[in-house]
Amino acid sequence: MFDAVETQVVVIGSGAGGAAIAGELCRHSIPTIVVEAGPQCTRPLGSHVRNRDPSEGGLSQYNDALNGALTFPSGGAGSGSAFRDFKVIHAVGGMLSYWTCNCPTPHVAERAPWITDAEWDSILDRARTLLGVGYDLGNGSVRQQRLIERVSMVVGREEAGRDVQPMPVAARRQGEQIRFASIENLLRVENVSNGPILHQDLICRQILHRSGRATGIIARPGVSGDDIAINAEVVVIAAGVAGTPKLIGGSRIDAGPALGAYLFDHPAIGSRVVLHRDILADVAADDPVFTVWIPYALGMPWHNQICRFPTNPTAIEYAAGPNETADIFTFCSMDVLEANRFNFDFDRLDPFGLPETVGAYALGAPDRGEVVHKGIAHPGEHKAIVDDELWSAVQAKLSSNLTRRRQARIESGAILGGLIFDDGGNRMSPTYTMRRGNRYRYYISPPHLQRKRKGSRPRISADDVERLIVEHLCRHQARNDLTADLTSGIWSAETRELILTVVDRVVIHHDQIEVRLKAKEAAPTPASARGDDKSESPNTISLPLPPARPRERKEIIVPSNFGTQARRVDQELILALARARSWMRALRQAEFVDTGEIAQRFRLSDAHVRRLLRFGYLAPILWRPSSKAASLAS
Ligand SMILES: Cc1cc2nc3c(=O)[nH]c(=O)nc-3n(C[C@H](O)[C@H](O)[C@H](O)COP(=O)(O)OP(=O)(O)OC[C@H]3O[C@@H](n4cnc5c(N)ncnc54)[C@H](O)[C@@H]3O)c2cc1C
Repeated sequence: MFDAVETQVVVIGSGAGGAAIAGELCRHSIPTIVVEAGPQCTRPLGSHVRNRDPSEGGLSQYNDALNGALTFPSGGAGSGSAFRDFKVIHAVGGMLSYWTCNCPTPHVAERAPWITDAEWDSILDRARTLLGVGYDLGNGSVRQQRLIERVSMVVGREEAGRDVQPMPVAARRQGEQIRFASIENLLRVENVSNGPILHQDLICRQILHRSGRATGIIARPGVSGDDIAINAEVVVIAAGVAGTPKLIGGSRIDAGPALGAYLFDHPAIGSRVVLHRDILADVAADDPVFTVWIPYALGMPWHNQICRFPTNPTAIEYAAGPNETADIFTFCSMDVLEANRFNFDFDRLDPFGLPETVGAYALGAPDRGEVVHKGIAHPGEHKAIVDDELWSAVQAKLSSNLTRRRQARIESGAILGGLIFDDGGNRMSPTYTMRRGNRYRYYISPPHLQRKRKGSRPRISADDVERLIVEHLCRHQARNDLTADLTSGIWSAETRELILTVVDRVVIHHDQIEVRLKAKEAAPTPASARGDDKSESPNTISLPLPPARPRERKEIIVPSNFGTQARRVDQELILALARARSWMRALRQAEFVDTGEIAQRFRLSDAHVRRLLRFGYLAPILWRPSSKAASLAS
């Protein structure tokens, strides 16, 4: 056992995100603990690695340090076959101890639209102030001045403020040397008695949460130490691009389908060139560093940087001194796709004890060496990064995965997939969550940004809606032969067939389900002819939906003949009773070897089956009064 540590805020990750938040909290005297999985590599705490030797000569040492620090997420031996080269840095300061400190201001077109422009401006200003970003690193550099003039003539710019200019850099000249910014700057808390408490080599393995609120974390010193708990009123997850979704997913926090999606890595093209002799003419040996920025502009959606990067993109084979060369980097924009994502494998854990991550990235025509103009692909001038053979193999695998996914959807029971919409006109997709080993299925509306209009019920229990519709259709279409499916909760091929042939569309309103039938199926059936059917038109059926339940709760059903007020009949409890009885009987008659076989057959967890089976031991008098239970069990 261990004693839990108490704090107001715990921040996971000491990179740019975590350190910026921790620093701000401490400046407001809010007790904060930062948990960092990696070690402290630099002194003072989290300072930039290049500050050890910021000279030209120190560049190769920096390169070596960077290559040594880059590791697979969670320190594993790989990051999944789909993301062979995906690496991160686990160290105090995260990537900000190694970054190149260039801070080009994003164009309005690059900013996320859910933050207002005024807010963006204030956030960017604050970040610039904290990191000490300035335009003056290349002040007095003859090469910089000449490069800006030359490049401006070629590029030409009409957009205000987006002209060729010195690059804003988070670094300051200190005498002859340059000091690069890092989390050292973000954590600086002058005039405050207590700074954040930073624990290095402490791996957060789980976010604790109760009733939809985070309450603390479980962390482990190194990969093999004993767990400790940190209780906190607020938990900030700033564990980087891979670590953050892994922790959320690994802690079984239902973050919806967006978790791990929209992953992007904007393409960067880098090269090293020798400067033209006109630019180098009469330049002094101690000419200051130059750093030039060609900003992203409408019609030219990329950023260019011309400077001396500390990382070496290409070797220059003939002799040229460092002062005679420049690096040109172009950072291109890219379409952000939901399909580009991390997927989490909860059956395989990484060395941090978190789910293994596999990346999926959609390739397009440019990756095959083609350019697309007006929908037609033409051979491009660039080289393909995937050859035809690999491309065809991937396409074949994708289409077989699609078939498998469809099959999995069929097997998972999502019989309304493709047919169900919310009342905002958005198609709802099947999904599920796992809680204590049980699988709960839902249909959900797309994420906020992809919705046409907000539907009044963005999430609905798949079991509830499917059961209501199947129950109704069995009556409407006089298909008593299918009612057994309602007991087992497993949809047979015949039930699926019925849905596909009869149902055109299902719309989820706030408190009712609208089932639109295909025209030829809307003819009156015996049930509707008798008037049992509450349909509004022959084509539409309205079914009442139970009001959205915030949480499940246990309930005792008391019949009215005990002198008490009758409560509603709990269909799920009755189903559980019926299942328990029939499974118990099947076990006795050796139809199933054990509960594991039942779990497999009904796609439930063994624990869930065992839990339900306890109902089978209830005295018959407790369940017999319900004629419904008796009929379901039979
Ligand atoms: C060589 C290089 C050059 C770059 N140059 C620039 C540049 O010029 N301009 C620019 O804007 N950006 C640049 N970047 C990118 C920039 O540095 C990053 O985008 C930024 O630092 C990311 O910060 P972060 O806090 O989101 O993540 P990270 O820096 O990845 O920090 C996350 C931290 O969380 C820790 N962590 C993860 N999981 C756990 C866990 N379970 N428990 C505890 N701790 C955990 C990690 O160890 C890590 O320290 C560069 C990056 C590199 C590597």
